[in-house]
Amino acid sequence: MQQPRPRVIRNDKEGRRLVTEWADGRQGEIDWERLRWACPCAVCAGEMGIPGRLASVTALTDDETTLEQIRGVGNYAIAALWKDGHDTGIYPFTLLAALAFPEE
Ligand SMILES: [Zn+2]
Repeated sequence: MQQPRPRVIRNDKEGRRLVTEWADGRQGEIDWERLRWACPCAVCAGEMGIPGRLASVTALTDDETTLEQIRGVGNYAIAALWKDGHDTGIYPFTLLAALAFPEE
């Protein structure tokens, strides 16, 4: 499988979403809320068979779904800093592409 390459990842604070553009010309948006629910870190998603926090809650707070900042991690992922201080979520480009284009 080909590794998806983002050309632009922009944090759209007014729209509360990530706007992504990819090397193949596609564009996709990811709502902040959806992005936070997809946080792949051990605290949120769990690890080694132990469920994470997201498995035990049905709603997230405003702060938890407000994306303050993103930064690049190597050439394969971005890290997200949320308003509640959560910053351990590393989103690989493959995950971002899956979130941006869920129908594929
Ligand atoms: Zn997390």
